Amino acid sequence: MKIIENSKINSDRELNDLFQLIEKEDSQYHSFLSLHKNYTKFDENRRGELANVPIAIKDNICVKNTIVTAGSKVLEDYISPYNATIIEKLQKAGAIIVGKTNLDEFAMGSSTENSAFGPTKNPLDRSLISGGSSGGSAVAVSANFVPVAIGTDTGGSVRHPASMCGVIGFKPTYGEISRYGIIAMGSSLDQVGIFGNEVGDIERVFNVVRGSDSKDSTSQIKKIKKLAKTNSSEKISIGIPYHFIQKGLSIEVKEKIGLLVQKLKEKYEIIDITLPHINYSLAVYYIIMLVEVASNMARYDGVRYGKNKNSLGDEVKRRIILGTYISSAGYADKYYHRAQAVRKLILEDFKKAYLRVDYIMMPTSPVLPWKIGEKINDSMSMYLMDIFTVPVNLAGLPAISLPTKRDPLSVGIQFIANQFNDDNLLNDSKEFLEIIETI
Ligand code: GLN
Repeated sequence: MKIIENSKINSDRELNDLFQLIEKEDSQYHSFLSLHKNYTKFDENRRGELANVPIAIKDNICVKNTIVTAGSKVLEDYISPYNATIIEKLQKAGAIIVGKTNLDEFAMGSSTENSAFGPTKNPLDRSLISGGSSGGSAVAVSANFVPVAIGTDTGGSVRHPASMCGVIGFKPTYGEISRYGIIAMGSSLDQVGIFGNEVGDIERVFNVVRGSDSKDSTSQIKKIKKLAKTNSSEKISIGIPYHFIQKGLSIEVKEKIGLLVQKLKEKYEIIDITLPHINYSLAVYYIIMLVEVASNMARYDGVRYGKNKNSLGDEVKRRIILGTYISSAGYADKYYHRAQAVRKLILEDFKKAYLRVDYIMMPTSPVLPWKIGEKINDSMSMYLMDIFTVPVNLAGLPAISLPTKRDPLSVGIQFIANQFNDDNLLNDSKEFLEIIETI
């Protein structure tokens, strides 16, 4: 298990060895789309929190003078003229960007099979999907190429692949990390996330990349004052919305949740909570996200960006068509505006719940990783895989997926905190993980 402290590169030779190792071993997983061998040199003078730590970056994040494909043929040879803010920050902290990782085309998907460059395979079992859309970043950490990797999470794209591949995936509060230089999918939902094998490593990277940025107005949200809890218990309290997680869970996931709750009860207060509107999350997400996707994708018209829009994949085309339809005159009220109203109710439900509990816990995914190809022609069952992750993006909350023991039966357990409680969430996750790993 690679962690930051043991992964620092100490010489030219070590960096070369790492590139060689990835070139050789990654042919079985396809987690990287490009290696930055020719742009990256070892420099012993690098200083900072992440000095000479190798990091992998999802290929929808711009690194100056290098190709950024977003997993699409449309951007196959597009070279970014500038750095994303998070790349500037990582490089200033001394990190080495080793390369760009595979993703579902424009981050749309839950398995990385929608990448125009072929799927990424799961290191726990190569016949299985890696999850998505940041499957490449999850695998780069799970296969021990790098200690930490960066992804994006619009509806679960960091937490879901983390859960599939037995690693940790963290999505901060909406607005905590600048999205400048990140190829947009659903702008009111998108957030950068971090993969790692240790919570402390994720914390370190988060503290480097977080903070407001004048180039991204959504990163300048005023921090909301935390309301006092009405629950005066000394113990940390964890709410579980049983009514929501009853349906659709596979036997394996159900069993592990049951075991975990027993163990958590020894230390924490476990409370059965109700989130009255959460059942609408998937429907609301797939309306709002589609409308924002249709709007964001308009720039790939072959004039501004994109060499040939005809080479867009089916899933992306489907979303552009649906999003355009939903937001067109006459339909916007029926779908989009209604979804916005329900989104507010979902957020209110969460806010009320956090008056009683510190965290909300549920599985990250309803099922274990499935076989590559199994759901590729069934969009609806693929969308259902996002059921437990999308409410978090709709409400802009921070959440983390923590893995049970690392084997093909590993289950991701999601802990969700109130807005801007990212630090507490990370801190308490260290203890949660110790318990979860024993399951
Ligand atoms: N699986 C979800 C979707 O396809 C989430 C994608 C994401 O978070 N980028 O929309």
